[in-house]
Amino acid sequence: MAAALVFRLHDKAPELLRDVLLERGWEEYDGGEREEEDWNLYWRSSAFHSSQYHSLLPWQRLNHHPKTVGITRKDCLARNLRRMRASCGSTLYDFSPSSFILPNDYTRFLAEYDKLHLTRGASLYWICKPVDLSRGRGIFLFQDIKDLVYDCSVIVQRYVSDPLLISGYKFDLRIYVCVKSFHPLTVYIHQEGLVRFATEKFSLSSLGNLFAHLTNSSINKLGPFYRAEKESVGRGCKWTMSKFRHFLRSQDVDELPLWQRISNIVTLTLLSIAPSVPSCPNCLELFGFDILVDVGLKPWLLEVNCSPALTLDCPADVSVKRGLISDLIDLMNYTSTDGLRDGAFQKQKHKRSCFRRPSYDPRSSQTQTLPLLKTVPQSKGTNPGRRALVADQSRRLPPVNPTTACAAGVRIINSTARKTHRDQTLNLILGSHSRTNRHTRPGETDVSQKTPEIRQRGPGFKPSAVAWKLPNIYSGSRVPVTAPLVETTASTGRGVPPVRVGDFIRTFPFNAATLKASRHKLNVKVVVQELHKLTGQLTSGQCDEAEGTKAGEEDFDSLLWGPKDPPSLRRCFKPT
Ligand code: ADP
Repeated sequence: MAAALVFRLHDKAPELLRDVLLERGWEEYDGGEREEEDWNLYWRSSAFHSSQYHSLLPWQRLNHHPKTVGITRKDCLARNLRRMRASCGSTLYDFSPSSFILPNDYTRFLAEYDKLHLTRGASLYWICKPVDLSRGRGIFLFQDIKDLVYDCSVIVQRYVSDPLLISGYKFDLRIYVCVKSFHPLTVYIHQEGLVRFATEKFSLSSLGNLFAHLTNSSINKLGPFYRAEKESVGRGCKWTMSKFRHFLRSQDVDELPLWQRISNIVTLTLLSIAPSVPSCPNCLELFGFDILVDVGLKPWLLEVNCSPALTLDCPADVSVKRGLISDLIDLMNYTSTDGLRDGAFQKQKHKRSCFRRPSYDPRSSQTQTLPLLKTVPQSKGTNPGRRALVADQSRRLPPVNPTTACAAGVRIINSTARKTHRDQTLNLILGSHSRTNRHTRPGETDVSQKTPEIRQRGPGFKPSAVAWKLPNIYSGSRVPVTAPLVETTASTGRGVPPVRVGDFIRTFPFNAATLKASRHKLNVKVVVQELHKLTGQLTSGQCDEAEGTKAGEEDFDSLLWGPKDPPSLRRCFKPT
């Protein structure tokens, strides 16, 4: 029988995560009692060291993909979006306020400032944010360049000065996005999220009042009106997304275009880094996208958080975050075979049968599936229907890539090829100037030489560290390996990830063309075209019949993320 699944938390990992996992019958990793590798989920708030990706075993998952800093640091995000705007056009990539990274972009900023001040005069506002701080720390607003003072790397951004207000209060939306895989790109957005309010009324005549201009709860919690009953907003500074949806309906707002535009922002932002993120199918990451909506209902991307806060400060947090974590665990798609990790240590036979799939054809994207044996206990108080989909799923096993098949003890690769592969992998993670790129000097440790240490478990068991290493799990390559953990829906059986897992709605791929475009090497151009087309169809409410019902598309259903009871994407527009 499979043992309980085991989680490992790094300091500062959220308490709520521990609670949810324990409720679901998981056990917490205890280094004193368990072997180093005897866990299924390792959760850190900060990034993992590159060596931790290399030593991942098949039953293990990490909560961060490697190299996603390209969207989670303000300056990197600004740079990547600028690059995408230049290559894909500013029509789609018009969702982020123009930004300048100072001191480097100072001359560009000055030119833009002078140009805009000639035409817009005093009605122009800027916001300055330190690039690597969060929670509103170090942020200030200014109009006149003489008030721009900074002593670290900052980003100066056009301030969205006409935000949509609720009873005079500014707010932004915290959208929870789970990237299940970068290769192929597989994205889910949670139906629940948070609306975060400023706690004093918005006014452009008080730029120094952060309680009126910033929506961070870490700031507003400290404000004098946090506990006060505020018109429409209520006490505190947060609503759930459900309450916001209800509010939009009560105002007769046509909400569908807003949700679709936000979903587009998520996809387009992820596209900016997807081709450069190394393939690591055993990783999954929850991002917090911060979106500001202006009076014209246009959503603006403010930033992307790599470890969105999962602390519980108020009732809205409780009702959103508990379900969110539970759904996230379901997305990780553990099966009872993951609980067999202990036996696998003792029986190399098991290890082989798990990871060497003789019938795997490297030229095909098909991987083998195992019937699901999952009996993970349900968490209390969750919707019983929400897990039905998971119970339907079967799990894909890691394909054995013949060039890296040493995982299964199949030593096809020759040592030179392996070294080249390993070096390329490390260069991608650590950068080409990394220490591993040089020859190791006496006394220096070359991390690329390190293989994970597998301690001996039972009498007579002498695992080969190389055999235990699974390079096919973490290829580090820009040429993706097929993700072993992407489920097949019972309905399609064509490698289409489930349309919904709990309250996570799949937003990418959203049709057969984007599935195809992301399956091997991500074709950004095709994806951008498809997004363009979809947005046009949703705006006009119509689609070309030939487009909507292409052969093979009948069984590819997608939902429109956002509205209550999300409708099928295909039903959002009628054929012309
Ligand atoms: P942090 O990482 O410190 O939270 P953000 O970029 O999220 O930094 O900014 C903090 C807050 O400042 C946001 O939640 C939002 O309320 C406000 N803000 C940031 N950038 C802008 C902008 N360009 N226009 C309007 N408001 C902004």
